[in-house]
Amino acid sequence: MLGPVILAASHSDRMRRLISAAPVTRQVVDRFIPGETVDDVVPIVEDLTGRGLELTMDVVGEDITTPAQATAARDAYLRLVERLGPLELGTRAEMSVKLSMFGQALEGGHELALANVRPVVEAAAAIGTTVTLDAEDHTTLDSMFAIHEELRRDFPQTGCVIQAYLFRTEADARRLAAAGSRVRLVKGAYKEPAEVAHQQKHEIDKAYVRVLRTLMEGEGYPMVGSHDPRLISIAQELARQAGRKPDEYEFQMLYGIRSDEHLRLAAEGHRMRVYTAYGTDWYGYFMRRLAEKPANLLFFARSVITR
Ligand code: FAD
Repeated sequence: MLGPVILAASHSDRMRRLISAAPVTRQVVDRFIPGETVDDVVPIVEDLTGRGLELTMDVVGEDITTPAQATAARDAYLRLVERLGPLELGTRAEMSVKLSMFGQALEGGHELALANVRPVVEAAAAIGTTVTLDAEDHTTLDSMFAIHEELRRDFPQTGCVIQAYLFRTEADARRLAAAGSRVRLVKGAYKEPAEVAHQQKHEIDKAYVRVLRTLMEGEGYPMVGSHDPRLISIAQELARQAGRKPDEYEFQMLYGIRSDEHLRLAAEGHRMRVYTAYGTDWYGYFMRRLAEKPANLLFFARSVITR
């Protein structure tokens, strides 16, 4: 029950101000967002890749209100690419972007987001890596898939995300499970109405398995984005049934969540990519992590009270 309340609060400016100003917030935030600048995260990239993990890097930020902020987002990613280049990690360190941060919700947003994201995708390709377009709320997805298709004309390795909770996703998965595609499947992190999305956990989990089967049996490259132990075992079984070798799909988890499992799967020979977010505008990302596991909220509240 708490999850939807927290997700609603993730759009409240008043809550944003309150939570951002709480003295202990930074400590709790650090668990999920381990830095504010690219200098903070480069050592983390080196540490995780040194331990056999791969990364997808996210500069946090969304709900922007001006084109100048969208340009600033583009520039933040370009600075990241500049720092990743000399590390020569190739696709071991790729990037995830939210098109809202590139201006998608502003006037003329579709074109603006495409114009801002394209240089990031080009710069990523120039250092031998790639970009995945995150999935945001359902109203943004037609635009996201159109931008994905457009970018793939020149950069076929550009990935995208689909969300198991949406009714539309089974059809999206069938369309996307073609040769050369890179598709991350997640359960979905936004508050969506019953007209467009499953609301019950068991229905979302069943949909996840159906969609994952489509991706595994298809010709693309499935990226299994989940911390759910049951779904991870099922993914291994579906990969086996589809005759996929360990380098023909990968697991992805978020930084700070089930970190032992990241290392365990990597040690077993799986490709494991850690979604690592950094930046100053962490509020929306942080609130979604609280909503996914209300126990996180209790931990956060206890830190504030006992301080
Ligand atoms: P759950 O059933 O929620 O969790 C399974 C177990 O994992 C829990 O029991 C708990 O032990 C642990 N766990 C999960 N979440 C947390 C948490 N926040 N804190 C502590 N423990 C936790 N969603 C989108 O809508 N769009 C995206 O583009 C997107 N990209 C993602 C990228 C990656 C790599 C991952 C892993 C997730 C992404 N998500 C995205 C979030 C996703 O939709 C889910 O909200 C999130 O992954 C939780 O679902 P789960 O599959 O881990 O299963």
